Amino acid sequence: MVNGYTPASLKEALEIRAAHDVIPYAGGTDLMIGEKRTGAYLFLNRVSELKRVFLEDGILHLGAGCTFTELIEHKMTPALLKEALRLIAAPAIRNEGTIGGNIANGSAKADSALVFFAADAKLKLASVSGERVLPIKEFYLGRKKLDLRGDELITEVLLPTRWLEHYYYQKVGARKALAISRVAFAGLMHIENDVIEHCATAFGAVSDVIIRREDIDAMLIGKTVVQARDAKGDYLGAFERAIVPIKGRVSAEYRKTVCLNLLNDFLVSFGI
Ligand SMILES: Cc1cc2nc3c(=O)[nH]c(=O)nc-3n(C[C@H](O)[C@H](O)[C@H](O)COP(=O)(O)OP(=O)(O)OC[C@H]3O[C@@H](n4cnc5c(N)ncnc54)[C@H](O)[C@@H]3O)c2cc1C
Repeated sequence: MVNGYTPASLKEALEIRAAHDVIPYAGGTDLMIGEKRTGAYLFLNRVSELKRVFLEDGILHLGAGCTFTELIEHKMTPALLKEALRLIAAPAIRNEGTIGGNIANGSAKADSALVFFAADAKLKLASVSGERVLPIKEFYLGRKKLDLRGDELITEVLLPTRWLEHYYYQKVGARKALAISRVAFAGLMHIENDVIEHCATAFGAVSDVIIRREDIDAMLIGKTVVQARDAKGDYLGAFERAIVPIKGRVSAEYRKTVCLNLLNDFLVSFGI
């Protein structure tokens, strides 16, 4: 028998979170297979505020309690996010697993978080004292270390839609399907009148935290495609130095090679 609270509103959920030592429980797909925890759960599945999806001023608000399946089926979900979500696990997990849980699990292998990094999404966090918004990159402080206070919940992902249309996405796993990422890559590119207006990349499952280096991507922004081809060697070299894979089931060398190959494929797919 699992002990817990089942609030029916966000206000109630935040009050319980502040008053008791509880573990937020969304879909349970990570919690149920992780190490045994003591304490009561705060079941979030009846909190309708965490299920909302709406667009406001070019920002898509995705409720943290949306399951992967709900977002795959939602008409407002951008194609890149749908593609990444469709490759997560199997239907049974996608029906229960949520984006809030995927982010709060703190893993650099989280496939929805990878897309949110590439898109420079922000997270809305709420507690009884109020709300705060922070870039997803700042939410991750290290392996399994999050900027999440004991009384807070992730309530929304704020996803800018402006640059999401043209993308390249690859998930490399041990198998074609049902595999946790060994390396995952998401890249966004926007070229207008032959000039690169936006370039953003993110690498998952390589390091303790998803790698997003705006400073390196900036090397290509503002360049024509021909100029970008000239700068390609320096750009790839900068990422070669920046990517320091952790040891895992597969060698660091393998992960780095795959990252650089995916980065090159991304550029080639946009004529660079
Ligand atoms: C067989 C299997 C295959 C999988 N394959 C993949 C895969 O391919 N790609 C992938 O990315 N993941 C995969 N996962 C991992 C998993 O499904 C996800 O990480 C999932 O998104 C977790 O969401 P959840 O709602 O189930 O979270 P839960 O298990 O309920 O919670 C996970 C963590 O998040 C916290 N939490 C949940 N919601 C909130 C909130 N709103 N605010 C603050 N904290 C919160 C919980 O306290 C807990 O620490 C797989 C898991 C399994 C079991």
